[in-house]
Amino acid sequence: MAETLENKVLHALGQVIDHDSDQNIVSLGLVKDITTEEGKVSCVLEFNEIDQKKNEKIFEDSKKAINEIPGVTKINIVTTYHKKNNEDSDDDTSISSELEQPQPESVGTSKIKYIIAVSSAKGGVGKSTVSVNLASAFKHIGLKVCLLDADIYGPSLPKMIGSKDKPESDGKKIETIKKFGLSTMSMGYMVNDENPIIWRGLMVMKAINEMIEKVNWGEADIMIIDMPPGTGDVQLTLTQKLKLTGSVLVSTPQDIALIDVVRGLKMFEKTNVPIYGIIENMSYFVAPDTGKEYQLYGESKTEAIAEKYDYELLAKIPHDPLLMEQCEKGHPLTDLFPEHKVSQMFIEMAEDILKKIKLNKLSETT
Ligand code: ADP
Repeated sequence: MAETLENKVLHALGQVIDHDSDQNIVSLGLVKDITTEEGKVSCVLEFNEIDQKKNEKIFEDSKKAINEIPGVTKINIVTTYHKKNNEDSDDDTSISSELEQPQPESVGTSKIKYIIAVSSAKGGVGKSTVSVNLASAFKHIGLKVCLLDADIYGPSLPKMIGSKDKPESDGKKIETIKKFGLSTMSMGYMVNDENPIIWRGLMVMKAINEMIEKVNWGEADIMIIDMPPGTGDVQLTLTQKLKLTGSVLVSTPQDIALIDVVRGLKMFEKTNVPIYGIIENMSYFVAPDTGKEYQLYGESKTEAIAEKYDYELLAKIPHDPLLMEQCEKGHPLTDLFPEHKVSQMFIEMAEDILKKIKLNKLSETT
């Protein structure tokens, strides 16, 4: 049977020697992951010593070894650093595409006071709609706001704020796209709609990492992150890496979506990120002619779930045709019509979340 490219890469890396121990890097356990796609090779090297020179040599030797495999067209080596023998930071894993020692505490967000993740356990529940309108609501109450669309499987931010601009870059830093008073970044600005990228776990991490580290976010009060949907390994690692101040979860009222929410809550609990609450989206529809409320998905179970797990139900956002229309038109409702009742819900929610952040920060310091 023909040897797979993955095996060939493993074999090539088995020839790379750490000269201190005289052992190869595979048997030393430094090779953590190898993925291949046609001729493209991605792999992760996890160093556990801060020895820039030595690590650099291993990095270069690995690149050379992989490059010698026939058929390899592209190599992407991600280096991570896992501190050993240090209780406080035993789980502290950072990812960097370069070989400088990664500094998790300065992931490019150091000038941003609060980082809030907007998550959902699955796609299509309105996570991006909520992220954009919540970001506009924070701007409305006077905060300087960044919005990172980390949902790289389906980046919808460019459409939602009506921007087709390409971010400018001087080769070192990438500038944000500024619109409606928000500083924004999305993979959707860089890639072509017609050629969707198939993201693997490792690539997702690298792409998001670059959007954080290489983007000139400047100084801001708050960053809203529209997370990739789901509660898998990617989301878990991101949650740990992003040094989140807190998170909110978006769900629709159906039972099935709520099962996913519980899964999402458990993920955040594992990472000790404060959960400010659940936002129920598309909770009901108000008939414009009669003013009668209709529950599109049947009776909501969110309240019961929130109570059972001791989370707050932050808001019940109705299914609103204008909210959807403004997403399509590329101008968030909350920015365009802040007096609209749905915009007012987002503004109240922003005030509420800000209070919660401050309370939480206060209890951290006392
Ligand atoms: P997700 O980010 O969870 O995949 P989106 O925010 O892209 O979901 O929303 C999916 C679709 O639902 C979009 O067309 C959006 O305009 C619409 N939508 C989301 N929330 C509402 C709402 N409360 N009322 C009306 N339409 C909504």
